[in-house]
Amino acid sequence: MSVRPEIPRKNLTELGLADLQALFAEWGEPKFRAKQVYQWVFQKGARSIDGMTNLPKALRQRLSDEGYSVGRVRVGRVAESIDSTRKLAIKLDDGAAVETVLIPMGDGKFSQCLSSQVGCALDCQFCYTGTLGLSRHLTPGEIVDQVLVARDHLPEGARVTHLVYMGMGEPLHNFDGVIGSLERICDPEGLGYSHRKVTVSTSGLVPQIEKLGQTVPVNLALSLNASNDEVRDRIMPVNKRWPIATLMKALRAYPLPPRRKMTVEYVLLGGVNDSDADARRLAELVRGMPVRINLIPWNPFQGPGFDRPADDRVQSFHQILDRQGLTVTVRVTKGLDIDAACGQLGERPTAA
Ligand code: SF4
Repeated sequence: MSVRPEIPRKNLTELGLADLQALFAEWGEPKFRAKQVYQWVFQKGARSIDGMTNLPKALRQRLSDEGYSVGRVRVGRVAESIDSTRKLAIKLDDGAAVETVLIPMGDGKFSQCLSSQVGCALDCQFCYTGTLGLSRHLTPGEIVDQVLVARDHLPEGARVTHLVYMGMGEPLHNFDGVIGSLERICDPEGLGYSHRKVTVSTSGLVPQIEKLGQTVPVNLALSLNASNDEVRDRIMPVNKRWPIATLMKALRAYPLPPRRKMTVEYVLLGGVNDSDADARRLAELVRGMPVRINLIPWNPFQGPGFDRPADDRVQSFHQILDRQGLTVTVRVTKGLDIDAACGQLGERPTAA
């Protein structure tokens, strides 16, 4: 089975502005009608053609008669953590399932973690999603829809201010789907997010990192997780293809907009990559780069046999980086009780 989904061209969430303009030119409609439909779908989150009230009735009728619709992904179970993190199970048209997570940041602001694939092919050993294997890429519409449907599940008056492509899947493996979604998410006529508020994370697909930098000025996060090739080869098979030196070279060349920092994510696995020597090597790897290091004590799930490091180990690792003058944060684990924390996403098998 192909991992590239067929794009349903009659679903308006899958059409960009240029697609709509081409369609309406063919139908002899004025150009501004395309923008109106695009705004209805992405800015106002319309759920039906009938609801597009500033379109002439005849045009609404033609869209319906020709089989167009506003397909939306469906939200299944919503789990809420004691820390107010919400995990939404998203059901896609073909029955596939992904998850998206709303993480509270205070003052009614939320950060949303988006999925880009059903499962993942990268097989990082510390990640539950990696155990599922890859079923398929998400379409641009399915990615954008996660943002639109999540609005119904926010507390009154709250809003999603930041988007992070760190849910299920390796975003840069689904490069076209992610770029298509970013076009709608960052377009002022679409969802209108500033590129500064959007972060794409990668496990280190070097050619696509270069391509991303040339395509769209979003923030980049690298999931590094080891300070040498021996450990990274073991916990992230992608490293055998693009080892650390090649990866760091690509990051140093990334055209980061002025005054922005890249994020380096480092999942701390007890006794594997969390020694003082690891911290010193990590500091060397990023020396002189505009980075923020995010330490993530591993969030356990059954199977891979790793341990979450002790708090004093995390502290010592942090201090070594801190003394080197690096910007370091330790991620406050959110949503652990609902399997919504980093590396935990993916449907669990139900008990027989
Ligand atoms: S960490 Fe990311 S890239 Fe690695 S297996 Fe999990 S979802 Fe895929």
